[in-house]
Amino acid sequence: MKLLTGAFSDLGELHALLGQADMLTSVRAAQSVLVQVYNRDEDIQWITEIMDALRALREDIVVVGASTFGHISRGQVCDARSVVSLSCFDTAELVLIEQDCHAGEEADAATRLVDALGDRIASIKGVLLLATPLAFNCDLLLASINTASPGLPVFGGGSADISLKRMLVFSRHRMIHAGFVAVALCGGTLEISRAVHLGWQPIGRKLTITQAQGSVVSMIDHKPAIDIYKRYLGIDSGDNFFLNVMEFPLLVERHGELHARVPYQVRKDGSILFTAELQEGEEVHFGYARIESMKQRVQALEKEVHAFGPEAIHIYSCIMRHFVLQRDIDLELLPFERLAPTAGFITAGEFCSRPDAAGLRNAAMVVVAMRESPAPGKAMHAKSAPADESRNLYEDNHMRILLRYQHFVQAITEDLENANAELARLAERDPLTGLFNRRALNGVMQNELERSRRYGKSFSIIVCDIDHFKRFNDVYGHQAGDTVLKELAIELQAEARASDVVCRFGGEEFVIVMPETRAEDAAEFAERVRRAVEGLRLFHQDVPLPPTTISFGVADFPGNGANADELVSAADAALYDAKRQGRNRVCRSTRTADEKK
Ligand code: GH3
Ligand code: MG
Ligand code: MG
Repeated sequence: MKLLTGAFSDLGELHALLGQADMLTSVRAAQSVLVQVYNRDEDIQWITEIMDALRALREDIVVVGASTFGHISRGQVCDARSVVSLSCFDTAELVLIEQDCHAGEEADAATRLVDALGDRIASIKGVLLLATPLAFNCDLLLASINTASPGLPVFGGGSADISLKRMLVFSRHRMIHAGFVAVALCGGTLEISRAVHLGWQPIGRKLTITQAQGSVVSMIDHKPAIDIYKRYLGIDSGDNFFLNVMEFPLLVERHGELHARVPYQVRKDGSILFTAELQEGEEVHFGYARIESMKQRVQALEKEVHAFGPEAIHIYSCIMRHFVLQRDIDLELLPFERLAPTAGFITAGEFCSRPDAAGLRNAAMVVVAMRESPAPGKAMHAKSAPADESRNLYEDNHMRILLRYQHFVQAITEDLENANAELARLAERDPLTGLFNRRALNGVMQNELERSRRYGKSFSIIVCDIDHFKRFNDVYGHQAGDTVLKELAIELQAEARASDVVCRFGGEEFVIVMPETRAEDAAEFAERVRRAVEGLRLFHQDVPLPPTTISFGVADFPGNGANADELVSAADAALYDAKRQGRNRVCRSTRTADEKK
């Protein structure tokens, strides 16, 4: 096969392009010819004139096209009004399908598409799809196609101009403002390899989608979705929302692959419409274009495509890449031009279906390599070898500065995440003893209650209190008292199992939560600790201290209490009994769960 492409801004340029000897020979010799036309505008007169010129070339050529943000020819984004690419196939046959499709009609449209392909389905090597993404849900269309014909290899992109208001896809017969045109490439020796390149990296803290329906996200972290964009990017709702926000998609991981979701409209209630769906409970991060990883991935991809031995490469690259990389977008396109002629366009949504995942991509570049000749052997190389690793595509431009900013932001984010983790740790610890504090105890008790209820298990809590501690402070001083508290904390922790949680409840009181333990076993444990403490010989600044004793109250769930308050109060009452009976002893709660204080 052969791919011939060129850009033009007037009919003279188009005729010159189509009149080239190489073009005429290839088009005539081909079994079939697929023409893709991409225009910056949707001037119907202009499109008709292009169609006429193409038809004069050969009557049976299949033409599809779209109005787009911009177009790609020969490894570059062109400023010209239009780009045309002619794929001249030696063996493949083409089936053109044009369909209207509005919101709500996606599943039917998918069924009609697959029905129209009929018996040829088995011989299809790829389906080029050009669609109007804002007129209906492309994600749903692609998912429905995958349901109707699992694994059908679809690729292509969405049409839209920068205002996101005008969209047009067309064939020789029809102009479609809501719907799609598709060309199935069938049979012969044609082989197609498709790859998706994203390169966007997660940044900032994890966010959770807390309310969403389809592609409308209402709440993120329990706040209106727009608040997150206001807070972190200083972007408000308004006419320019899309323009301001497009470089910062949300990233979500699906099937081990990162997908970007681009916000494009804010609603009055603060919810945001994304280009594809997000699900409640999904964790997302802001994404940013990490030039380094974009570069590395392009190099890896270039090698893969080179190994495939392409004769033609079609590229569908998201408008967001264009915005972020500006003119440097060519740097991720040109490497492919070294392997084979390239053509494509700047998309609003890229399509690359996979059997296990929906096919709508955002912020991505879909690279579709084709060949009809046999796969290259070791000795057979494409035009030239891919560039070596040491080449730095982005060396001499503003990207270098951007790279430093990105590094800076990433480093600060890491610092903050570490600081947050340390704060979270400190917030639940008692500074004197290092044990969990009362606040942490509440969480531990709630978890234990839920777990025990779910699995029908019991657990115990022990409340213990140092005997006559006030007297001790009075005689030996507060600092000696602190030493005793610290030493007893170590002792309690040492006696407890790994699954037990020891907390300083306050003052000279401790609480131990013992999962999957009944009161009689907890009481046995408390007795062991009591004896161990009684036998301890402590020193403060080398001065020996008198023996310390502790009293214990034990209660279990569900026997002595049905919730945290009841359990603590039951264990407290038992502790009071121990004190009353002379201290330095263990008492079990005598309460039953139904019997409230
Ligand atoms: P009982 O056997 O009835 O529990 O008598 P007690 O003296 O231990 O009980 P009381 O509640 O009268 O006194 C507790 C003392 O614990 C009072 C307080 O000064 C002391 N205390 C509380 N927190 C700390 C602390 O962090 N360090 C020191 N050194 N003492 C503390
Ligand atoms: Mg005490
Ligand atoms: Mg006390």
